[in-house]
Parts: sequence; structure tokens; C-alpha cells
Amino acid sequence: MSELTKHLESIIKDKDRVITGRIERKYLSDNLERKVGTAEALVFPASTEEVSKIMKYAYENEIPVTPRGAGTNLVGSTVPQGNGIVLDFSGMNRVLEIDEETFTATVEPGVILEDFQSLVESRGLFYPPDPGEKKASIGGNISTNAGGMRAVKYGVTRDYVMGLELVLSDGTVITVGGKNRKDTSGLDLKEIVIGSEGTLALITKCVLKLIPKPEEALSVLVSFDSLKEGIECVRKVIKANVNPTAIEFIEKKIVQLGEEYLGLKFPERDAAAFLLLTFDGNRVEIENNVAQLEKTVLENGAGKVLRLEDQKEAEKVWKIRGVLVKAVEAVSEQEPLDMVVPINRIDTYVNFVHELEKESGLRMISFGHAGDGNVHLCVVRGGRDDETWERDLDHALEILYKKAYELGGVTSGEHGIGTSKRKYFFRETDSANIVLMNQIKKAFDTKKILNPGISYVQ
Ligand SMILES: Cc1cc2nc3c(=O)[nH]c(=O)nc-3n(C[C@H](O)[C@H](O)[C@H](O)COP(=O)(O)OP(=O)(O)OC[C@H]3O[C@@H](n4cnc5c(N)ncnc54)[C@H](O)[C@@H]3O)c2cc1C
Repeated sequence: MSELTKHLESIIKDKDRVITGRIERKYLSDNLERKVGTAEALVFPASTEEVSKIMKYAYENEIPVTPRGAGTNLVGSTVPQGNGIVLDFSGMNRVLEIDEETFTATVEPGVILEDFQSLVESRGLFYPPDPGEKKASIGGNISTNAGGMRAVKYGVTRDYVMGLELVLSDGTVITVGGKNRKDTSGLDLKEIVIGSEGTLALITKCVLKLIPKPEEALSVLVSFDSLKEGIECVRKVIKANVNPTAIEFIEKKIVQLGEEYLGLKFPERDAAAFLLLTFDGNRVEIENNVAQLEKTVLENGAGKVLRLEDQKEAEKVWKIRGVLVKAVEAVSEQEPLDMVVPINRIDTYVNFVHELEKESGLRMISFGHAGDGNVHLCVVRGGRDDETWERDLDHALEILYKKAYELGGVTSGEHGIGTSKRKYFFRETDSANIVLMNQIKKAFDTKKILNPGISYVQ
């Protein structure tokens, strides 16, 4: 038995929670399971105390540690770099408190998003962050600053994190933020940890902001003859001040993949592209906003506006939207990208992608959060052999990221950098920014044992 195993088993008495030897592939990878790392141990901690003791030992012995939530990331940020410890937080999954007086919830990081959303909604409360993958964990959502469908109205995960309990790389436990609505007391350490992809500290407790649950929601499907017209219309919709919760754009060709994957039919089939919107609030508010939306889109190139009043129909459409990444994956390997550009450049960017698709011969499927400029792009491998795929993909990615930056955009809107986007992120980001990021890393994690080789970490 190795020294590491001996030590881990002295901290965690329950043998099922310390796995050494053969570790299942999924724990050494991300959602795509293409890149696989190595680790000497996989550990399922059950308390902050256990995490702290493990980190103290890892720090003293300079053992790399890879934190892991539900492993749904798409960028290789849970692929262990170095033969160390994978810390899987799925067992720390208790909702510790729902405080209806401060409108906060305190949860452990392994709580699953959809379970948490259902729980708070059953109490008339609402947790708005809503990334496509509902089986992700709250700790993973915070570490990637997950966005998703409702970001256009409600913002992203960052906007709902009020406090965190953190275990630092040497095992020290600290609390940052809390239940206060405002805080200008020194540097905001919480904000720097959010979105840091497990590179600065381990999240062991989260205080989340809740809001009252909107009374109702209504989704609306708007059809266009071309994606260009649909996307150009988005700014008009935003300007019309109709306050949608979500504005998603989808091309018909990818809707068809979603339909085939799920065996469901979209209610409107006679269009090249769609905008899918949701409105929430009370009935009067929704009626006024949807009426104004109809007027705006019909004056700006829309063919049809379909109100999805039937709840089942609305759920079906959102289900198809939610499954698009998986639907593409089912047909061919693909590289998922999520660059973000200023909202007034999204049409330029998507048109550029279409041109590149024609020139390069690589199939590129785009959909995404039109309301916040976040383009989800799947570059599809098709029948290419390994070498051709690697070369063609790299060439296309260089062009795609370069263009995004030219338009004022950045590498990732919500998925993070992980391992798969590092090359392009480093190429496009000012070196002074990278240096500063690594100085911050050093201040948090002197020995660089937390998620080494991920994201900005050099
Ligand atoms: C079908 C599909 C659709 C998706 N749609 C969206 C979307 O719309 N919007 C969006 O933002 N993302 C989306 N994603 C990406 C993914 O779901 C998110 O990145 C999610 O936030 C990851 O959560 P997780 O629990 O799976 O974290 P993991 O994948 O396990 O980890 C993600 C990162 O967080 C770190 N981490 C995890 N837990 C902790 C912790 N306790 N302490 C410190 N670090 C930790 C890991 O080291 C890693 O760097 C989608 C993914 C899929 C598969």
C-alpha cells in the first residue's frame, strides 16, 4: 500500500470513499471522455474537515489535486494533470439551510442543480442560473461561472453567489462573503474564486441568493427565412425592452438533429431558423411584453410567431434545445466552442462562421444564447482520420478565435478554458493579464497543486 493510500485511509475510515488502483475512466476525464488523465487516488470527501486534512497532506507532499463536481464540463477541466488525487464532491450534497428571511440557501458543493431548483421552487422561491446541463453540481457551476438560458434577464451564476467556504491548498479553511447583500470590505476574494476552474481553492459550502418565483412563464417560437435575419432581429428585441428571460437562436438543420435524437417533432418546421424566447413574471407583464415582441419581430423580418401556451409543447421545444450538443455528438465527434462577442457583433460573427464553413469544408453548427452574444459552435469531425481532423480543426480554431477577438470577444462565455482551449486563450490574451493571473494563482496556491495545467495556469 502506498504512503498516499495509507494516509488517505487514515483520514477517511470508510474504504468505499478512497479508490486507488484502477480508477474508472469517467473520473479521469470530462463529459466528452476524449482526454483521459491519470491519478493515484480518487476520493469522495464527506466534510470540510476531511477536505482540509487531505489538502494539508497534499500540500506537504506537493501532490496535485483535481476537484470534481458532476464532471459535465466540456473543456477538459477535470482531466487530472499529474498522478495525484481526484477529489470528487458528489457526496457533499446536502442542502444545509433555506433561509426565507434573507432569501438565501446554504448548500454543499455536490448538490445537483436540478434538484436544488425543484426544491426552492416548491417553496415559492427561484434560483435563476440555468445552464443546459441540469445534472451539473452547484460547486461546478460556481467554478465555471455557468451561464445558460436565463442569463439575458437574470445574469449568470456569479450574480447568485453571496458567500463561500473555501479550503485553501494548504488545508486552511476560510469563509468569503456571506448573507450580506453588499460588501466593500477589502478585496472581494469570493469573486476571484468564482469561475477559476478549481485552480485557486476548493469550495466546500455555498451561500446562494434566491428570488421570489415568477408567477408564470410563456415561451414563444419565432420563425425566420434565414439565421442572418433571426440574429439581426435580436438587437431590435432587446431595444424594444420586452425583458425576455431567454433568447436562443437555432438553425433548422440542428433542430432536425435534436428531433431525431429525441424522437420528438418541433411544432414549426417551415423555416430556416428560429428564435426561441421565454418571458416570465405575472400574466399582465407577460401579455404586454409578448404583444410588443410580436410587433417588433414581425416588423423586422420574422415569418411567424408561435406562442407555446401548451406547457407540454413548450417543454418539448426546450427539451430539443437542451439536447443539441448531445444530438450533434450522436452523429459525429465534434469540438464544442462557446466564444462570446459583444451583442452587436453576434450577427457578424455567425455570418463569418457560415463563410468559413463553406471555405473550409468543415461542418459547423451554431446555436446559442443570442441575447448575450454567446455562440455555441460545434465543429463536426465527420469521416476525417485522426491526423486530418487534428490539422483541420486546429486551423479552423485559430481563425475562429482570432475573429472573435477582432470583434471584441473572448475565448469562453461560460464553459471555461480547461485544457482544450488553452492554446487559443494564451495566443489571444495579453501576456500582462496572464502574468497577473498567475501571480494571483501563486498567492492562493504557492505550490501550484490545485488543478495544475488547467486554464490560465502556466
Ligand atoms: C449537454 C451540456 C450542456 C451544457 N450547457 C451549458 C450551458 O448552457 N451553460 C454553461 O455554463 N455550461 C454548460 N455546460 C457545461 C457544464 O455543464 C458546466 O460547465 C457546469 O457548470 C459544470 O458543473 P459540474 O458539476 O459538472 O463541474 P465539473 O465538470 O465536475 O467541474 C468543472 C470545473 O469546476 C471545478 N470544480 C468542481 N467542483 C469544485 C469544487 N467544489 N471546488 C473547486 N472547484 C471545483 C473542476 O475542477 C472543474 O475545473 C453544458 C454541458 C453539457 C454536457
